[in-house]
Amino acid sequence: MRILVTNDDGINAPGLKVAEAVARALSDDVWVCAPAEEQSGAGHSLTLTRPVRLRRHDERHWSVTGTPTDAVMLAMKQVMPGLPDLILSGVNRGANLGDDVTYSGTVSAAMEGALAGIPAIALSQVYAREGMGDTVPFEAAEHWAEAAIRPLLDWPFPPRSLVNINFPPLKGDAVKGIRVVRQGFHDYARGSVVEGTDPRGYRYYWFGLYGIEHTPGHDTDLEAVADGYVAVTPLQLDLTMDAALAGLKARYA
Ligand code: MN
Repeated sequence: MRILVTNDDGINAPGLKVAEAVARALSDDVWVCAPAEEQSGAGHSLTLTRPVRLRRHDERHWSVTGTPTDAVMLAMKQVMPGLPDLILSGVNRGANLGDDVTYSGTVSAAMEGALAGIPAIALSQVYAREGMGDTVPFEAAEHWAEAAIRPLLDWPFPPRSLVNINFPPLKGDAVKGIRVVRQGFHDYARGSVVEGTDPRGYRYYWFGLYGIEHTPGHDTDLEAVADGYVAVTPLQLDLTMDAALAGLKARYA
């Protein structure tokens, strides 16, 4: 089984090493190709307006001066000897829960795999509070990732689907188990915006992620993680709202 490991936190991120270790527990044929710099919040963006460089660190470790989507594309087209059988994206430093999946470079790297017809899994470690920087503990991910991934190895991923996994901010032995749940939604009160003045006297705004309140819907990823479980959520790239098709067609008739 050939596995591609990528992320959106960059080639030097600690979570990438956690994902690589899990991949190595599953296979000897592991390739790492990740953005050179952090790309959190990059979503599914593809770099079109400037060239992208591919850097070889060793035979199996590569970085790309672009987005997670760029990294997955170049891994498949330029780096690997053939297409991967599985893509692991993460382990992200921070949650990718609810509607945040559309901002997420971590989830989007898995989406790119799903578009290519490759089973793809996004992995994210939720952390307890803002401002933890590189001290975010990956204990729950280290302890639970293999157990969360193994049942998916022979699962027939439907076309254009992926699986999003979030680990709760707990020590490994404090995690209660694994729940398969639907995607939830945050209340729409987007996180913090810090306002300041740069060294040249110009005003800037800087988005933060925390301070987003939510009342998690029942059986959602948000609720599962809040209850201390690993959340496993199947996602699909077809965003069509089937229930609205007939009604909208009638309006244009
Ligand atoms: Mn990230």
